[in-house]
Amino acid sequence: MSPLLELKDVRAAYDAITVLHGINLSVAAGQVVALLGPNGAGKTTTLKVAAGVHPLKSGQLFLGGRDATGLPLGDVARSGVCLIPEGRGVFPNLSVRENLLMMTFTGRSREEIEEIAFARFPILGKRASQTAGTLSGGEQQMLALSRGLATDPAVLLLDELSMGLAPLIVGELYEQVAEIARQGVAVLIVEQFAAAVLDIADHAAVLVRGRVEHQGRPDEAFKTELAALYLGSS
Ligand code: ATP
Repeated sequence: MSPLLELKDVRAAYDAITVLHGINLSVAAGQVVALLGPNGAGKTTTLKVAAGVHPLKSGQLFLGGRDATGLPLGDVARSGVCLIPEGRGVFPNLSVRENLLMMTFTGRSREEIEEIAFARFPILGKRASQTAGTLSGGEQQMLALSRGLATDPAVLLLDELSMGLAPLIVGELYEQVAEIARQGVAVLIVEQFAAAVLDIADHAAVLVRGRVEHQGRPDEAFKTELAALYLGSS
């Protein structure tokens, strides 16, 4: 089966400075791939390239087996890719219900969007009238995920889902991410270093200074190598 998302020898730059030096990465339907690495390694840039909001300098981007390299920036989102950026991207002054209501542009009804969101995250149903800015960090992340899922993505890109959240909440969110993947979505999740993500990942890659230094199944041997890499790069 061809992967839903594939990056082949991708290079990307900000002006004259190249920050991705030939990334190869693929995510199949139903798979969770974790992209780990220290600050500034290029993780967010990789997600931006995959989401079609940052151009490739060279290499190729495939979506659903089709070459999406030449697509104009922005058109990639229409091919079923959804990026949930770092910092959650909810509208803090709007209520939970209003944040979800905005997603009716997808053609789904308000009732359907709410039903799906509240079934997945019952706490959001309880907080429906509360402004998003007053939710806990975990609840905001649940809302951001629900907004993203309303677009019915084939590929879900998550940037530092766990940032600033308590381990228990992170575990709950990851469980939902695993469930989303089980429903056939290809999930690429970026974390700086969150060992817990390896519990749900089928495959993990470590990015250091714009290069994949190590990748494989996130088993015990991988975790040991990862620890060594981190110690080595600090
Ligand atoms: P972090 O965990 O800090 O977000 P990251 O692994 O996601 O790190 P990127 O944000 O992709 O890394 O950054 C990779 C490199 O590109 C860094 O050296 C960063 O300084 C640089 N960079 C990122 N965004 C820009 C930008 N808009 N303009 C110029 N350089 C940038």
